[in-house]
Amino acid sequence: MPQTPDSQPHPALEKTIGSIKGVGPKMLPKLEKLGLKTVEDALYHLPLRYEDRRQLKPISHLRPGGQEVFRGRVLSAGESITSRNRKKIYDVIVEDDSGQIALKWFRYRKPWLQKLLPIGRQVVLIGEVKHFGATREVHHPDVELLPDGADPMQVLQKDPLNFGRILPVYPLTEGLSQKQARKIWYPLVMDNAVYVESRMPQEVLQRLHLMPLATALLQSHWPDNQTDLQALGQGTDSARNSLVFDEFFFLELGLALKRAGVQLEEGIQFRLEHRYTLPLSKILPFKLTDAQRRVLGEIKQDMCSKQPMHRLLQGDVGSGKTMVALMSALIAIENKTQVAVVAPTEILAEQHFRTFDNWLRELGLKAALLQGSMSASAKRDVLEMIATGEVDLIVGTHAVLQEGVEFHKLGLGIIDEQHRFGVKQRSLLKHKGQNPDMLVMTATPIPRTLSMTLYGDLSVSVIDQLPPGRKPITTRKYVGQQRTKAYQLIGKEIAAGRQAYIVYPLVEESEKSDLKAAIDAAEHLKNDIFPQFNIGVLHGRMKSAEKDTVMERFRKGEVQLLVSTTVIEVGVDVPNATVMMVEHADRFGLSQLHQLRGRVGRGADKSYCLLIPSDHYSEDAGKRLQVMVDTEDGFRIAEADLEIRGPGDFLGTRQAGLPDFRVANLLRDARLLESARKEAFEYIEKTNQLKTPDSQPVRQELIRRWGGRLELAAIG
Ligand code: ADP
Ligand code: MG
Repeated sequence: MPQTPDSQPHPALEKTIGSIKGVGPKMLPKLEKLGLKTVEDALYHLPLRYEDRRQLKPISHLRPGGQEVFRGRVLSAGESITSRNRKKIYDVIVEDDSGQIALKWFRYRKPWLQKLLPIGRQVVLIGEVKHFGATREVHHPDVELLPDGADPMQVLQKDPLNFGRILPVYPLTEGLSQKQARKIWYPLVMDNAVYVESRMPQEVLQRLHLMPLATALLQSHWPDNQTDLQALGQGTDSARNSLVFDEFFFLELGLALKRAGVQLEEGIQFRLEHRYTLPLSKILPFKLTDAQRRVLGEIKQDMCSKQPMHRLLQGDVGSGKTMVALMSALIAIENKTQVAVVAPTEILAEQHFRTFDNWLRELGLKAALLQGSMSASAKRDVLEMIATGEVDLIVGTHAVLQEGVEFHKLGLGIIDEQHRFGVKQRSLLKHKGQNPDMLVMTATPIPRTLSMTLYGDLSVSVIDQLPPGRKPITTRKYVGQQRTKAYQLIGKEIAAGRQAYIVYPLVEESEKSDLKAAIDAAEHLKNDIFPQFNIGVLHGRMKSAEKDTVMERFRKGEVQLLVSTTVIEVGVDVPNATVMMVEHADRFGLSQLHQLRGRVGRGADKSYCLLIPSDHYSEDAGKRLQVMVDTEDGFRIAEADLEIRGPGDFLGTRQAGLPDFRVANLLRDARLLESARKEAFEYIEKTNQLKTPDSQPVRQELIRRWGGRLELAAIG
């Protein structure tokens, strides 16, 4: 469809940032470093916060926090020597009718300060107020002279970019000062914001009292003096809300459109035959939990409907997602179709293969494993069996998604630990069949409001219950010498017949120094700490067969202590293991730590997670470790993670195939997201999926924002 000219952005917005007044060859690379390429980018580079410089504040009202602007008369001035480190400082006290405050300089030229601030002089001061016990001080303030009898406001108005208004405080980069930023962004916004056009339906804008984008941008950069300061501070002022709503509206519009599309596809309509599912439930050593059963019910309904299933199965580590996957697989197999199970690591694929193969054999069915590392001839055999339909279920890593893997008839695609895969891979699997049903599983809970609104075209099932008999896992943080306590506990548990993991971080399997550290540590443990135990070592650089052997020996209990890199992070299930010790725990993210901890506490015995941070770690890392000690609830951990990391990083919008947000904050703006979703879904329906003439500008804007991602979003 040709683009209508009036839905194109104004050419002024597409000009490069280098064409902006005041941006020379020196400034340009700095702005580029902020990720700004065009004028439009710069318009969406919004202030981090604001400073109230509308009026001079009485000295008694000055508070620590942001910059303050105030006037005062010099009461005393002079050099003194600090008692602590015997350094010289220059000390000035100023006063107004309301009170006094101290100004301090630690680096200065004395004659200059003496001349600038003689006793009795009237000045305007700008600086950050700090508390030291009961006293307030301003260090190295900016000083503006105030001639006798002059109106201080007039002095300020000489510099309207920096005084007499609510000032934007921009995110900066090295070599770009706040003053320079304001000097660039003032004319930039004043001249160009007007070209940004709202493409949201007018009716929605008006009904919800949203500002047009041009006004909202102007107000966000340079709020007028009546703006509600508190709302500004919290990022919930109406200008910002309008920008956020605009982003969310187009996000949800895309999702709504996709959802409508998904429902139009013809899928496979399975029938419940109970031929394998019933016998399986009879031979299982346990009963499915209520939550597993409920979720399975939801899956069955999807599978039996005409539309292809797109379901996200969410359940905390150890909640028993694999069993649900197995039962779903049997339904597909009963209907004479094949099932593909894809896992992110070879170790997990191998484990799943054992589980599925074990049960399928009992039922007279056939499973196969496909790994990238298999020999060419073994691979050829497996490919052949997949193509002819000889195997009912295939388990593997990314290898399953490769070209050349052709199914006889793929009915159900299952992706485990879906957050470890990109959108592309999910789409690849789906296209191995003709609209097969898709079940994607994850232990990373996305806060509920977000999962519904973000994965708008996915249905979500939640297993919110663990199998019975699980005991809480005790999590402890041990620093420095306390490490010996961790070793003692491991020794005790292994002596009592149980098993333990010690995990080392290895961000990239190629990082040699990390790998060496892990291998050296294993040697040290073998020789010096636990010579009496069988210790196995596992890392991603080992050959598949070696890895299998070690895992198998661990599973059988022959290896008592497994020293490993993060290759065992997800999915591994050895119920007799009761201790998870994590070295350099500060280097792991929260969801990773939660996954690692999920490797224990899978049996009837009490389990422990021992976190050993590096000698020095950041404040954020400290927070993460504390969250782990405080709670086992995956949902709360995800929320804390979202809070500490910020939403973009947490959700990886890129990876989910969603457009990036320039303004919106998924955590803070969740309510707007819901409202935007409602509006967007209604609009899609009202316009017959954007087919009416008046919805064309909206449609064009949607295409522009989503780029090629519309087709790939969610699971493609
Ligand atoms: P996850 O959801 O983390 O993938 P798994 O599927 O690996 O969890 O299951 C964890 C453990 O719980 C496995 O050992 C599995 O056999 C066991 N399990 C699953 N469902 C039940 C159940 N209903 N009752 C008892 N144990 C169960
Ligand atoms: Mg699992």
